[in-house]
Amino acid sequence: MKKIVIIGGGIAGLAAAYRVQEAILAGCGPIGCKVLEGSDKFGGKIDTEHHEGFVIDRGPDSFISQKPWAIELCQKVGLENHLIGTKTDCPKTYVYLNKKLVTMPDGLSLMVPTQFLPFVFTSLFSIPGKIRMGLDLIIPGKADDSDESLASFVRRRLGEEALNRMAQPMLAGIYGSDPERMSIKSTFPMFVHAEKKYRSLILGMVAGKRRQIADALKNKGNSAPKSLFMTLKNGLGEMVAAVIEKSPDVTFSKNCRVERFGRCEGGTGWSIGLDSGETLEADAVILSTPAFITADLLVYTAPRLAELLGKIPYVSTAVATLGFRKEGFSHPLNGFGFVVPKTEGRKINACTWVSSKFPFRAPAGHVMIRAFIGGALNEPLAEQAESDIGAMVRQELREIMGIYEEPLFCKVFKNHKANVQYHVHHQERVAEIDRELVDLPGLYLAGSAFKGIGIPDCVLNGTQTAEAALDYLDR
Ligand SMILES: Cc1cc2nc3c(=O)[nH]c(=O)nc-3n(C[C@H](O)[C@H](O)[C@H](O)COP(=O)(O)OP(=O)(O)OC[C@H]3O[C@@H](n4cnc5c(N)ncnc54)[C@H](O)[C@@H]3O)c2cc1C
Repeated sequence: MKKIVIIGGGIAGLAAAYRVQEAILAGCGPIGCKVLEGSDKFGGKIDTEHHEGFVIDRGPDSFISQKPWAIELCQKVGLENHLIGTKTDCPKTYVYLNKKLVTMPDGLSLMVPTQFLPFVFTSLFSIPGKIRMGLDLIIPGKADDSDESLASFVRRRLGEEALNRMAQPMLAGIYGSDPERMSIKSTFPMFVHAEKKYRSLILGMVAGKRRQIADALKNKGNSAPKSLFMTLKNGLGEMVAAVIEKSPDVTFSKNCRVERFGRCEGGTGWSIGLDSGETLEADAVILSTPAFITADLLVYTAPRLAELLGKIPYVSTAVATLGFRKEGFSHPLNGFGFVVPKTEGRKINACTWVSSKFPFRAPAGHVMIRAFIGGALNEPLAEQAESDIGAMVRQELREIMGIYEEPLFCKVFKNHKANVQYHVHHQERVAEIDRELVDLPGLYLAGSAFKGIGIPDCVLNGTQTAEAALDYLDR
């Protein structure tokens, strides 16, 4: 029997395992598949906690629907009826500007304006800032195909104010990143395509939006309209449990930390050393651990590959989740939350009003919010003690939102070196990594470090990597 071992039980590793399960059910021949997870739980960054009726996602809490792969996986593992979108009563997002929460204008498509009137009337931008953004319609496109930072791209197309008040805070909220270092090609390739095809970012995004509306009308009746963000009724942890349950032919082992890795002596396969002292052998291996851990495991077997992997940076972030009684709560929570530009000099990057954004998150008569700390621009704040982070967040929420009430709980989750960063030229590094792998048959890499950070990208990447490994075993 051919053996495939998946190291790392995060969502990329789990998606790979599920693909192997599908192949087994389709009769691909006898294959033994094991997932080795180093910690005491599966899911990696995905981790849901249930606390007195509150559903608390410690890390990611949703995924975007424009990339369908996470939704498809949920449907395959029987969670179709648990998929939920955002609430529709007040879908507003705010930007903290000059000590006030200012509404983000309607008609934004991934931070690019696609409607004229909301931008004319918004107080988020000054008149010169709006004129500068409008110049995107006439300034020429980039002459060459080279990568650049997101900051350089937005500054060039929409101006400094759009960067500081919109792109930077949104990026800090999503990726925990510094826009001066982030690769535009790796994080927002659709912007690069829009500029290339339409010369103007705004025209490109308007065309994209029209296409989406046309597609939605064409499919009307075939599928329910989806909100931009989707999640699961009982938290994203449901996805982890369902994938494992629906993969009965795969062995899932937790508390199985891989410490040594190399080629089998005299053979073609791979040897995997566990912290228990046990050694396993496999014909194909998928390493879906964070890049710096994969680098350590490969340092003797593939030093050049390890060096490339070790150069992919990660930053620390923290999330603080607070629950309150609704009665007497001083803020209306009339929206999804807010982002904070770096220029405002605050200690939190963003805050989601979770119980206003998603249903089923707080029990009746209660509300829940969560604040984001750290990332590339404020990393030391996320490295503080949990109690200090909790006190700091409460002070920030007092000053920004006027919340003086005592929370029922304030849970701080620290994510040490958890957020991968795609710096300028990330794609070139990944291409070099792929070239190194050509000489290591049967060895595959998956996960957020390579071709997409969000959960849908990790699902796609895990699935495709499993397909490549199955194809190799077949050959
Ligand atoms: C705070 C935070 C919020 C986020 N929010 C969102 C969001 O809302 N939406 C979204 O789409 N994305 C979000 N992301 C990104 C997304 O969650 C991650 O990119 C994705 O979950 C990573 O999955 P992965 O399988 O690549 O890696 P991981 O989840 O890191 O899994 C790797 C696994 O490998 C295991 N491992 C490590 N070393 C070993 C070893 N030696 N032996 C065996 N196992 C080992 C780890 O324990 C872990 O389980 C967020 C990320 C963070 C950190």
